[in-house]
Amino acid sequence: MRYETVIGLEVHLQLDTQTKAFCGCANRFGSSPNSQTCPVCLGFPGSLPVLNEKAFLHAIKVALALGCKIQDLIKFDRKNYYYPDLPKNYQISQYDMPLSYDGRIDIKVDGKDKLIRIKRVHMEEDAGKLVHPEGASHSLVDYNRAGTPLLEIVTEPDLSSPEEAYEYLTKLKSILGYLKVSDCDMEKGSLRCDANISIRPAGEKTLGTKVEVKNMNSFKNVRQALEHEEKRQAEAVEDKVKIVQETRLWDPDRGVTVSMRSKEEAQDYRYFPEPDLVPFVVDKRVIEDIRSALPELPEARRARFMDEFALPEYDASVLTADIDTAEYFEESARVSGKAKIVANWIMGDMAAMSNARNIGIRELGLSAGSLASIIKMIDSGAISGKIAKEVLNDAIETKKDPEEIVRLKGLTQISDGGQIETAVAAVLAKNEKSVKDYKDGKKNALTFLVGQVMKETKGKANPALVNEILKKKLGE
Ligand code: ADP
Ligand code: MG
Ligand code: ZN
Repeated sequence: MRYETVIGLEVHLQLDTQTKAFCGCANRFGSSPNSQTCPVCLGFPGSLPVLNEKAFLHAIKVALALGCKIQDLIKFDRKNYYYPDLPKNYQISQYDMPLSYDGRIDIKVDGKDKLIRIKRVHMEEDAGKLVHPEGASHSLVDYNRAGTPLLEIVTEPDLSSPEEAYEYLTKLKSILGYLKVSDCDMEKGSLRCDANISIRPAGEKTLGTKVEVKNMNSFKNVRQALEHEEKRQAEAVEDKVKIVQETRLWDPDRGVTVSMRSKEEAQDYRYFPEPDLVPFVVDKRVIEDIRSALPELPEARRARFMDEFALPEYDASVLTADIDTAEYFEESARVSGKAKIVANWIMGDMAAMSNARNIGIRELGLSAGSLASIIKMIDSGAISGKIAKEVLNDAIETKKDPEEIVRLKGLTQISDGGQIETAVAAVLAKNEKSVKDYKDGKKNALTFLVGQVMKETKGKANPALVNEILKKKLGE
């Protein structure tokens, strides 16, 4: 039997705010355990939550950027469950009147465009964290994270493959990055993804029983977990084993999902309205102000880069995927006036360096102006392209100014004919065999000789000039 896969994703995003969602405690990572707590986020009886305006405005911003409609009347609800990291025994969330609904993200997979509907974007609070000291028979709990603001972004079951899920997440993260509302770091847990997946016979209209998969700490993990899960489900069906609705954990070491618990239904949570936060209406002007202040988003920027800097679509897509790279490129392209060359350097050497270090382009510590000055030096003939790579490496390692590096190390390109002629003469004298080969018609001997002259001049000779002088001396 052939099966088709149905996937819906739930993404939790930690919002960057000074304080928590419903109290004045700091919303900061890495402080000593339980130092950022108060009666509200510890759930003391009689304490009252107050909605954080900044978190709310961030939430509206995300909702609008994803094309969502803002709910006329917004309400918070209590989602009840018991767990030691949840001091109130309920989580403030949103149930039937969420902040926003009906958005979309457009993705492209294998050259085909696909619309993924966003079902809802709503606000909620995070829980604390359990710590399990090694070897101990007890666990500890840290409530610093309890009550910090989260956004939940839920898709309709519109994704049909693990690859589409990967593309959706990449696109979502790109947009969120532009909005500057979160650091979106999956390894740190500021962006988390729960993946719901089911299969059904190809062509079937009703949905199959879904399984929710958790514990993936990268988009690649999400894709792998889903690939594993669609296979596991198909095999189960073939073996006449019934798929049960459950939550499964991804085990990255073994590359399998493992059953965690049978999936609870909404009714198990006994959702009810949060009586301490009254339902409210958002002033239309507030919404329109946020909408009109939305930054240029990745797709618009990509189109502009193609237009304004005459970049190929591929380059423009790569450069606009993340906001830092887009801004870095734009600044460097403007200062140097050499957009395509800047693009090549960013997508080539600089991308390789930041990938190797697992950091972003900004953290390499080379300013956009410095990259522009390296490119200007190549353009003016002051240094060769090969030396430029050395300068780039040096500037990143030592944090020195590229022009200063060139000056201090004497890397300026030799474009003086006399100096090159001397080097050429030396090389010809030492390589009689190659000279003979060349004269016998083996034209690639020239490449070798050019290489020798470059070596003789420590890579500083102007290659075009070397070629020209060599050919002349060889009697062409
Ligand atoms: P729940 O109440 O269990 O959280 P929702 O209806 O809110 O369920 O859906 C949660 C997520 O699961 C959504 O992203 C939705 O698209 C997805 N989903 C729902 N049903 C299925 C299904 N049969 N197969 C795959 N994904 C599904
Ligand atoms: Mg849900
Ligand atoms: Zn607090």
